[in-house]
Amino acid sequence: MVERTLAIIKPDAVKKQVVGDVIQRYETAGLHPIAMKMMSLSKPIAEGFYAVHSERPFFHELTAFMSSGPSVVIVLEGENAIQANRDLMGATDPQKAEPGTIRAVHGASIEANAVHGSDSPETARFEIGYFFPGMDLQSGC
Ligand code: ADP
Ligand code: MG
Repeated sequence: MVERTLAIIKPDAVKKQVVGDVIQRYETAGLHPIAMKMMSLSKPIAEGFYAVHSERPFFHELTAFMSSGPSVVIVLEGENAIQANRDLMGATDPQKAEPGTIRAVHGASIEANAVHGSDSPETARFEIGYFFPGMDLQSGC
């Protein structure tokens, strides 16, 4: 099934200048960018995005990190895009991520782990609407 998912190239990866490499990996995996913008998330925007984690002990640190510099926010479209992108990203902790995954290659720590990817159809719908509200996104396939 063709799906859409939200990806974020996080501030650590933008600072490392690996935006091009990460986008290349999406495209090589058949995940087509259909909307994309570079933006610096404010703390409140990062908090709203990660609201599901508001009770977690790392919430303040995480949202401070996510608002520490520019990110690239991308809607990816492709076959089973949500799971395909999770597989491409690897585990949350780069040290536990499969070799060759984006987080294994570019992640620095469990927090600064290079990329975000939606984890379910419900979160994908919420997250795409959060960053691209009211947009009638055209298919790139
Ligand atoms: P994922 O991004 O793999 O879906 P989670 O949804 O559990 O992982 O967490 C969201 C983000 O919060 C992670 O990508 C990471 O940046 C950060 N994070 C997760 N666990 C921790 C932790 N134990 N300490 C610090 N930051 C964390
Ligand atoms: Mg998650």
